[in-house]
Amino acid sequence: MKVCVVGAGAWGAATALFLARLGASVMLLEATGHSAGATGFAAGILTTQTWYEKDSTLVSRTLKHIRDIETSVPHSVFRRTGMIRIVPARDKERLSQLVERQRRLGEDAKMIGVMDARRFAPDMKLREEEVASYSPQDGYVSPTDLVGAELSLARSLGISYERRRVTSITEISSGVKLEASGAELKFDAVVVTAGVWTRKLVRDYLDLPVIPYKTQLGLVTYEVGLGPVVDDQVLHFYFRPESSKSIAVGDGTSLGNFDPDDFDTHSETGFQTEVSQKLLSRLGKVESSEFITSWAGLVGGTPDRHPLLGPISDAGNVIVGCGDNGFGVMRSLAIGEYLAHMACGRQPPVDLSEFSARRFGARPPKFEPREGFTIY
Ligand SMILES: Cc1cc2nc3c(=O)[nH]c(=O)nc-3n(C[C@H](O)[C@H](O)[C@H](O)COP(=O)(O)OP(=O)(O)OC[C@H]3O[C@@H](n4cnc5c(N)ncnc54)[C@H](O)[C@@H]3O)c2cc1C
Repeated sequence: MKVCVVGAGAWGAATALFLARLGASVMLLEATGHSAGATGFAAGILTTQTWYEKDSTLVSRTLKHIRDIETSVPHSVFRRTGMIRIVPARDKERLSQLVERQRRLGEDAKMIGVMDARRFAPDMKLREEEVASYSPQDGYVSPTDLVGAELSLARSLGISYERRRVTSITEISSGVKLEASGAELKFDAVVVTAGVWTRKLVRDYLDLPVIPYKTQLGLVTYEVGLGPVVDDQVLHFYFRPESSKSIAVGDGTSLGNFDPDDFDTHSETGFQTEVSQKLLSRLGKVESSEFITSWAGLVGGTPDRHPLLGPISDAGNVIVGCGDNGFGVMRSLAIGEYLAHMACGRQPPVDLSEFSARRFGARPPKFEPREGFTIY
């Protein structure tokens, strides 16, 4: 079976790897370079404390696959640091529910008090009216390194990986025809994992309800080092260790509708100042910290904050995987595994049919995107 994957971000690289493992003949086409889209801009945080239970299962499965990949590459990919999540007291019940759910799913999560939080992150300033949880199995990856590891494994299994921009996708009687950087190519099936560019690429088949919205990240010097990932739902930002002397800080989500082909990846004026103030209020010893750099990327929001996965053409040979809602790295390998099985006509190990790309029908609803990396 000859399958083409369009886009070498976290979802496309994972799909190509699983297709190769299933024995397909795979061509991965990437317009720019691997991780050129959202993946290369991401913080790479992985937490099973997701707002929707199925996503939690997908994160666990992704982590299992990362562990498996780590046995075949010379360096570790996942950094387990644990995650502290801080919420206002009014959200205590919700956070407790999520912790209970994590425990039911076999994770080692717990609610923690202010003093406990100081044990995990001594410089953290917590207030009496705040509530926190700690999930020790959470952590982060470098998304670019993860994709690099997946591609090197996929290549060792024989996939071909070419730099080509796909400009048209046409279903024909014997499969699918693509135009890509001047060449005409034919496949039995194509999986389009082109992130926020997917909607434009497949619009002849279905108008996918995906709105590209902006989110931002920066690197800040932090001489004392940081232990766990911190998701702060009180001040609405997050940070994680980057190196022994720097941290990555994310915030600045603008839920507008941005054009991926005309998008400025510089962070907005004011992003650094705003984030610095939040850091000052949450973390000690940041007075002398400075921004090293910061940037903005686009993620794809959907009406129900679930991904759009599966066939969209009549004969079912054009398959999409998009609608990451801002937390796609953490579910990438489980989603790639699903898409690969769909493309080969095999039974997927986890049923994700509830995320069918066709669930909104031919006329998608009007909607405003909402953040996906949250507790509700
Ligand atoms: C600032 C920021 C922080 C984030 N932090 C996290 C986090 O901590 N944890 C997490 O899980 N997620 C995070 N995310 C979200 C995460 O980045 C995305 O969910 C994920 O990267 C989506 O991967 P993808 O493969 O679907 O898309 P992309 O990474 O966008 O990949 C799409 C690829 O398709 C290629 N392409 C596009 N058009 C064509 C074409 N016509 N032909 C060929 N190739 C094409 C692009 O060049 C690109 O490489 C963050 C995102 C941002 C922006």
